[in-house]
Amino acid sequence: MNLSGRELAATIRADVAARVAQGPAPKLAIVTATADEASAWYVRSLATAAGKVGITCEVVDLGPAADTATITDALRGLAADPGTHGVILQTPLPAGVDAREVALAIDPAQDVDGANPESLGRLVCGLPAYPPATAEAVVALLDHHGVPVEGREAVVVGRSTVVGKPLAHLLLDRDATVTVCHSRTADLAAVTRRAEILVVAVGRAGLIRAGHVAPGATVIDVGTHPTADGGLVGDVDADSVAGVAGALSPVPGGVGPVTTALLLRHTLDAARARA
Ligand code: NAP
Repeated sequence: MNLSGRELAATIRADVAARVAQGPAPKLAIVTATADEASAWYVRSLATAAGKVGITCEVVDLGPAADTATITDALRGLAADPGTHGVILQTPLPAGVDAREVALAIDPAQDVDGANPESLGRLVCGLPAYPPATAEAVVALLDHHGVPVEGREAVVVGRSTVVGKPLAHLLLDRDATVTVCHSRTADLAAVTRRAEILVVAVGRAGLIRAGHVAPGATVIDVGTHPTADGGLVGDVDADSVAGVAGALSPVPGGVGPVTTALLLRHTLDAARARA
């Protein structure tokens, strides 16, 4: 089965557009400090998606030479602006910038991608917070396609603060039995083959192959890697895994569009929470 995210993303966007139309336009600020082309492409596509649902989007480009103080000051300025409802701090950050320190400067009320460590802490403790949109998108995709989570063996490959850790928590919250793998996992394939639900967020194109997957397992590919011909591939070798998995999310068109749609929903929720 193809676990496409396009239909779900369109449903979320339509719902957001309908709700936006009922009140003042929310505003999203994207703070960027990189010359990375893939990042620039992502920012442009997010700004376009925001515009289509009636959300105003401001890109605050601090340039690749920005330091910790410059980025922190920009985020504090946005925190003090009642007209800005959502803030996204785009990665990668310039070398030498303290990622945790700058993320702490995002106002949790504007933290629509759950980047402030305080948001993650609140999430883990069951307090209101916006979850990182990619992690939330994985669970939304499972729900949309009717994949049961409760009581099942879920394996997450990757333990980043932005995807792996929050996702492990969200799956745990849904009563899955969760194992998290990382670069020091001794026998990755032995662990991933236990998974009924396997989520891969490692940032290594094609790392997961048929031998990593149990027959019939549900596989969600979070990875995104631009190819030389302008395409996109994931962390899962789709040709190899498709013959073994029961269901697989595509790249592109799986987790990505749902992530974008959820960022828009969070921005609208943040705006209405302030109203
Ligand atoms: P990251 O911060 O680089 O973290 C990668 C994680 O994978 C780390 O925990 C690392 O382990 C682990 N890892 C690396 N090589 C491994 C290996 N050979 N075996 C097992 N684990 C390994 O990456 P990220 O930010 O989480 O992003 C992961 C991927 O998701 C990237 O391709 C990124 O582009 C994509 N992404 C997609 C979306 C979306 O909306 N679709 C959003 C965000 C990210 P250690 O902790 O031991 O180093």
